[in-house]
Amino acid sequence: MDRKYWLSARCALAISGGALGALMLGGCVMGTDGMAPVAPASAPTSAPANTSVVESPEALANRMADAYIRLTLEAGSHEGDYVDAYYGPAEWRTAANAHPRSPAELAVAARALIAEIDAALATRAFAGPPATGSQRARLIALRGMLHAADTRLQMLGGRQYRFADEATGLFATNPTLEPLSHYDRVLAGLDHLVPGEGPLAARVDAFYDRYTIPPDKVRTVLEAAIGECRRRTMAHMRLPEGESFTLELVTNKPWSGYNYYQGNFHSLIQVNTDLPIRISRAVDLGCHEGYPGHHVLNMMIEQNLVRTRHWQEFTVNPLYSPQSVIAEGSANYGIDLAFPGEEKLAFERDVLYPLAGLDPASAEDFARVSAATDALGGARLTIAKMYLDGEISRERAIELSQHYLLLSPARAEQSMGFTDHYRSYVLNYGWGRDLVHRAVEAGDADAATRWARMQRILSEPTFPADLVAMEARAARR
Ligand SMILES: [Zn+2]
Repeated sequence: MDRKYWLSARCALAISGGALGALMLGGCVMGTDGMAPVAPASAPTSAPANTSVVESPEALANRMADAYIRLTLEAGSHEGDYVDAYYGPAEWRTAANAHPRSPAELAVAARALIAEIDAALATRAFAGPPATGSQRARLIALRGMLHAADTRLQMLGGRQYRFADEATGLFATNPTLEPLSHYDRVLAGLDHLVPGEGPLAARVDAFYDRYTIPPDKVRTVLEAAIGECRRRTMAHMRLPEGESFTLELVTNKPWSGYNYYQGNFHSLIQVNTDLPIRISRAVDLGCHEGYPGHHVLNMMIEQNLVRTRHWQEFTVNPLYSPQSVIAEGSANYGIDLAFPGEEKLAFERDVLYPLAGLDPASAEDFARVSAATDALGGARLTIAKMYLDGEISRERAIELSQHYLLLSPARAEQSMGFTDHYRSYVLNYGWGRDLVHRAVEAGDADAATRWARMQRILSEPTFPADLVAMEARAARR
């Protein structure tokens, strides 16, 4: 992760040996608009209009981007998972870790950068609509990313938010939640689907356990699933030459799967085997962590934003950012996109069940129960909000997770461990998926349109509000 995979096309900046946090921007910046002088290093918060040096829009945006990267890397030195991926110059991370500013200082710096961006956006140089690829669009995206950083840094400094404010601050969205009673109807339906003695959660858990992939077949089944996810994605999207991933099975993690993007079109995909892996997880993981999920999203960003446009801010990916709504939402929706209708069931039954040594004749039963339990997904967010807002205790949250999400005690504990660790991040999965789903499928889009919209979402800086606008535009057509 620390390797420097990509070299900026711009003139070399003073990226090492300088006082950290200072903007070491001597020399020149070469962008698509040609070579332009850069504002003096001592003026990170003063508007260019107040200086004698004229700074081009691209140079200003590059300077904001560099400050954002340094700020993000320094924040990462205070919180282990803050930086989800980074493949810019390794020296920048080394420097950030050597002398990080405190969370409070970094939050002040983030707000100063936002103020400078606001001042710039009000000038004629950045006038006009935020057209795709424009420096205005770029600055607006940077502003959103800095606002999320400010929120997270204030949290690291001890500030506590209510769920809705935390969600808006970190992810630029506030999910619509159903009360838990909304899910009682789904539970009643499942009671008929999985008859028997004892609590429904235990019955459903026992039912699902019959579909566990034997440990010695997990890798084979996962590789087959990821291969099919890749094949289906490549039928609609052109992926970079030589792209690749490494699959590792790991234990003792707070998540079930993780994509560590390494840059240079390569991902390390880790799957947690602490709990038995059921057959449906294979395609889910293959799409979510791989194709057209995280691996493809990160490659599209590297190819289109970093390499083509030289928007270096996208070499760093903080976990707590509106980008995560798009990342998790597109990764989850990617399952439906790649396997529409009955296609997931057919592939699992015909290919994965035999590979796992499971009875293909039972695949339809599993799919039926699975569809019903999927309808309970929103309850996870409702429970998380109640817990994070202090309305219920942890014990009660685990009880409710068992009842409404039909989880075993061990899986309910794992789910709550994730909420403890990542807090409102949980909204990105179900709510993010809903936002992407509605944007991609609005207006009865056919398969080609759905994939084209997905590619656009993955290839441009996309915020939750952009998804809502995309949905509204498509529905009007
Ligand atoms: Zn994910």
